[in-house]
Amino acid sequence: MLTKNHQLVLEIVRESGFGHHRCASDIFAEAKRRRPSIGHTTIYRSLARLRDLRLVREVLLPHGNSATYEPMGPDHAHFHCTSCGAVQDVQYRLPANGVREIVDTYGVAITNELLTLEGQCSGCRSA
Ligand SMILES: [Zn+2]
Ligand SMILES: [Zn+2]
Repeated sequence: MLTKNHQLVLEIVRESGFGHHRCASDIFAEAKRRRPSIGHTTIYRSLARLRDLRLVREVLLPHGNSATYEPMGPDHAHFHCTSCGAVQDVQYRLPANGVREIVDTYGVAITNELLTLEGQCSGCRSA
């Protein structure tokens, strides 16, 4: 059961569409525009809840950058440009046999695959 605030946050993330990644403060600004009474904490709680329900995907970036959020869709990896900060979807998944090998070697259960590659985006490279 989603509260009205959860629904609003989910709506905002879904509206941004696939391939777009918005940080919590950006989502907060948009939510506030639509529902002025909404608080910062509510946004963070809603995002955590929606992530746990697997309705939105949280994309964590290294180096203490704030997390970004995108609509739940097919699994993919991310490319993070360390020059301009852009986050881009890349169609890549770890090969299934590679994942199986990790499970067999370390005896772990893998429930989530979060893969982020870093470097310079094509725009920054040609600048
Ligand atoms: Zn860049
Ligand atoms: Zn993505």
